Amino acid sequence: MLSFRREVYLDNNATTEISQEVIKTMRYALEKAYGNPSSLYKTSLRASTMLEEAREAAAKSINASPSEIIFTGSATESNNTALKFLFENFYPGKRKIISSPIEHPAVLETLAYLENRGAEVHYLKVNRQGLIDLEELENSIDDATIAVACMYVNNETGAINDIKKAAALAHAKGSYFFSDCVQALGKLPVDVRELDFDYASFSAHKINGPKGVGGLYVKQGAPIGAFVHGGHQERGLRAGTESIHNIAGFGAACRAIPNKLGQANRLAELKKYFIKNIRETVPGAVINSDGLQFANNTISVIFPGSNNERLMAALDFKGISVSAGSACNTQENAPSHVLKAIGLTDEEARSTIRFSLNERITIKDLDYTIRSIDEYFRGKLPSINMFKPAQLDESVIFSKDAFFLDVRYNYDRKSLKGIPNSFEASFYGIKKYLHAIPKDKNIIAICQGGVNSPFTAYYLKSKGYKNVSFLMYGLAGWRIAQPGLYEKYAGRNITKLEPKG
Ligand code: PLP
Repeated sequence: MLSFRREVYLDNNATTEISQEVIKTMRYALEKAYGNPSSLYKTSLRASTMLEEAREAAAKSINASPSEIIFTGSATESNNTALKFLFENFYPGKRKIISSPIEHPAVLETLAYLENRGAEVHYLKVNRQGLIDLEELENSIDDATIAVACMYVNNETGAINDIKKAAALAHAKGSYFFSDCVQALGKLPVDVRELDFDYASFSAHKINGPKGVGGLYVKQGAPIGAFVHGGHQERGLRAGTESIHNIAGFGAACRAIPNKLGQANRLAELKKYFIKNIRETVPGAVINSDGLQFANNTISVIFPGSNNERLMAALDFKGISVSAGSACNTQENAPSHVLKAIGLTDEEARSTIRFSLNERITIKDLDYTIRSIDEYFRGKLPSINMFKPAQLDESVIFSKDAFFLDVRYNYDRKSLKGIPNSFEASFYGIKKYLHAIPKDKNIIAICQGGVNSPFTAYYLKSKGYKNVSFLMYGLAGWRIAQPGLYEKYAGRNITKLEPKG
């Protein structure tokens, strides 16, 4: 949408920039190794060689053997595969899986799916630091337990669980142990032999590799069966011609892991510096991820009394990419399940921002970020206004000066009706709608959960719109706060704006 003089990317737990080395390897794969690795001529041998070299690199990065690595399309697929296979293999003889409420949705949603099919899932409590209770784990494993599924490093707070002990407890009682290691790889040494995992999942795009490729470690002898049926690829477990450029890119990213780990101390110093400066700049700030039991790139901060969506949009306005600690762009408008599980109130979760660093971040980047946070809290950034859902009553929705700009995705529009008399435009294509958005009105940007609308409001501000607001918690929040108004008026007289240019 906007171009900035300075860009600071502090959302490396969401995804990472692809390294030049990875791009080089992928380009070679695309240009020279396009053959089908299952064929026998030279072009294909180049492809099969790249495939096996990538497998060796992935295996080496976690101290596994190449035969224990299955390439998948994502860590989400790896998580689905391991958990679904384990359940189907042992059910109905055994039905229990033990996990925790701070897992990634790729685990939690899979477990919910299995619960509908007869699985019994026990969710362990976590403490304020996001660590599971090992005593509770030990006491909950019984003869019916198939597996314990526990992530190594949490994506939102960076909490590092004592996964070696958890695996030992699982094994002592005859259960398998699975770990989502997506956020651990490249941040901490991951040695699957020493940690004694049976299954573990990995993702290339979190370690400067490409998106759309993941890995599943399955220990020699641990049960696994075909999960995509067809050809013989991936030892017949995952059929389909391999995505050689992605897999080769994953391999190249794995080869760079020792270099990443070599910079761990520098990252830890940067994190310390950032935390110290945040505390000085915003004295009430609460750091959720300070200490040795947290990854040295992840800084989760509560800015009490602030609204994380507005702060996130303000930082984006300054070219700084961070992520909110709450996934509000949902129908339920629910704050982050991880932050709730560690004991934060809804209000605290909605005031939390996650900064996740990488090796290329400099002190200057962090100083710029701190300065921008300071400007925000001192009211020096262009201001956008917020409406709380309860404030959006009849006097506002029918005000002659108001122009409701609905930037929801089309699929969200199917599930909730819009504000009466509102105008629909596309969030990503907003610049094509500027001609139809009046400069002399009070623009109120609306989205489904309150995440996209502040970005739109800041964008309009940068385009010279004077009075710009957004609706906190979006339409989902408004429907909850004003059910009567929603019933009576939502969906009436909506206009679809036409894009231009
Ligand atoms: N597990 C964790 C802990 C993650 O952080 C992520 C990505 O956000 C995933 C799984 C999913 O990875 P992928 O994008 O490869 O499906």
